[in-house]
Amino acid sequence: MHELPVVIDIVRVIEQEASKRNMKEITQIYLVIGELSSIMDESVQMYFEIIAKNSVCAGAKLVFEHRPAMLKCSVCKKEFSHTRGFNCPACGGDSVLVKGTGREFYIQSFTGQ
Ligand SMILES: [Zn+2]
Repeated sequence: MHELPVVIDIVRVIEQEASKRNMKEITQIYLVIGELSSIMDESVQMYFEIIAKNSVCAGAKLVFEHRPAMLKCSVCKKEFSHTRGFNCPACGGDSVLVKGTGREFYIQSFTGQ
C-alpha cells in the first residue's frame, strides 16, 4: 500500500519536468529500487496505471533497476553485494551493512518527446 504516495510523487515530478522540457508524451521511465526498500515492482506498476491515466505519463513503460544492499567486511573493509552471502568473499570475515544501500528509490531518468 505504501507504493501509492510514491507513485503519485513520481507522476508529479515527471509532469513538472516534462512541461519544463516541452515534452508531450513520456515513453519510458527508469526507476531505481533498492532491495531493502520494500517497494514492489508489481504494486508500482498497478498504481502507476491508475495515477498516470490522463497525465503526460499515460502509456509510459516502467523500467525497474534493482540495487542490492552492500556489505562491508569488518576485517579487510572490502565492499560486496549481499547477494553473495554475508561473509567477505576475500577473507571470509564478518560484514556489516553499508549505511543507506539497498534503500534507494528514485527516478533515474525518463524518455519521451
Ligand atoms: Zn574481508
